[in-house]
Amino acid sequence: MHVLISGASVAGPVLAYWLRRHGFDVTVVERAPALRKTGGHAVDLFRPAMDIVDRMGLIGPVTARKTGTEHITMYIEGRGRPVEMDMRKLVATVSDRHVEIMRDDLSEVFYDATRDDVEYVFDDSIASVGGDGLVTFERGEARRFDLVVGADGLHSNVRRLVFGPESAHTRWIGAYLAVATIPNYRGLDGRMEGITGVGRMAGLYSAAHLDGARALFLFRTPEQLDYHHRDTARQKELLRERFAGLGWDVPRLLDEADRASAFYFDSITQLTLDTWTRGRVALVGDAGHCPGPAVGGSTSLAVVGAYVLAGELAAAGGDHTRAFPAYEAAMGDYVRRSRSFALNAARRLLPGTALDLGLLAGTTWLVGRLPSGLSRAASKLAAKGVRLHDSVELKDYSAYGAVPR
Ligand SMILES: Cc1cc2nc3c(=O)[nH]c(=O)nc-3n(C[C@H](O)[C@H](O)[C@H](O)COP(=O)(O)OP(=O)(O)OC[C@H]3O[C@@H](n4cnc5c(N)ncnc54)[C@H](O)[C@@H]3O)c2cc1C
Repeated sequence: MHVLISGASVAGPVLAYWLRRHGFDVTVVERAPALRKTGGHAVDLFRPAMDIVDRMGLIGPVTARKTGTEHITMYIEGRGRPVEMDMRKLVATVSDRHVEIMRDDLSEVFYDATRDDVEYVFDDSIASVGGDGLVTFERGEARRFDLVVGADGLHSNVRRLVFGPESAHTRWIGAYLAVATIPNYRGLDGRMEGITGVGRMAGLYSAAHLDGARALFLFRTPEQLDYHHRDTARQKELLRERFAGLGWDVPRLLDEADRASAFYFDSITQLTLDTWTRGRVALVGDAGHCPGPAVGGSTSLAVVGAYVLAGELAAAGGDHTRAFPAYEAAMGDYVRRSRSFALNAARRLLPGTALDLGLLAGTTWLVGRLPSGLSRAASKLAAKGVRLHDSVELKDYSAYGAVPR
């Protein structure tokens, strides 16, 4: 059986890896002219995703490229002294197995593990998917595939072609996110520094092996902003308006963002789809499940979803009419809980009032001072569902071998 995957970032190559291991033929089509090396941002692999990486034999290369952020210094608007946070303690409240890594580094590890056995086609995109398996491309010749999977991110092309317009499946969660690749002018190594105010947060992080640093901006607005997704000048203007008057190094971050080598700006949007398959087409990763970038642990969700989809296809001997419902049943609870987690995380990261801001400062101060075991226990009591990733149980699909060709 031959499966076409759209998107070569995280979900695409992980799915390709497991499909190959179960005996499927795989082609991955990626719109970018080469594997993306655009700067990117840090992403999180929590326990279930780390366990999958382990089963892929990739723990070594993944941990070798971790960002190693161990410490956060966070100023609170209107207060003098910053809150110092031990990142390891904070993460331990969420998961007992975790690596933070730049997305581009992670996709390169997954790509390297699959490039010899998988056909990768760069610089192309699917133009249409026929019910009979005929797929047309923007550049290449039309080809036939048994199944098609959209692993092409939050603004998925396959989802638009097969499930309809994006607006029908998305919910804006009231916030925006920007990331700029700028020089590491504060000499950060394994540290993040930043400032949180009412409804806005700006920070800077880097690690020794990274080119430059990443300036991160998160902010809330009462209404959706009016801008075109390609109009970066307007986006930078909006950022300046929103972050005017916030202290610490924010004016410098905004200046650096103006001349950034890579700049990302988007609303924090959650997908609301409750089904991720239609006919011979499935969605995986952000294309199907995104609970909101930067707030919902969506990278772990992407890795788990890819592993489960490949496993269920193998378990059903390639019969998608059995595999797809099994995939949806296996992922449903994790996806729904990730959505609530993301909404809570956005509220916590961006306090809506001065009172909430004070509470945030107090909680992070406390977690920083408790011994790890106690802070883990406290988080279990205080924030229901905070350990959502670690509660996911992975099926073992290793018994399912080659599928009929
Ligand atoms: C600024 C930012 C910060 C984030 N922070 C975190 C974090 O802290 N922790 C975390 O876990 N996650 C974070 N995320 C989310 C994380 O990046 C995603 O969950 C993860 O990358 C999902 O992987 P994916 O493979 O599903 O999609 P993506 O990584 O979005 O990859 C989609 C791929 O599809 C390709 N593509 C797009 N259109 C087409 C097309 N028409 N044809 C072919 N290919 C196409 C793209 O070029 C890309 O390679 C963040 C995201 C952003 C944007």
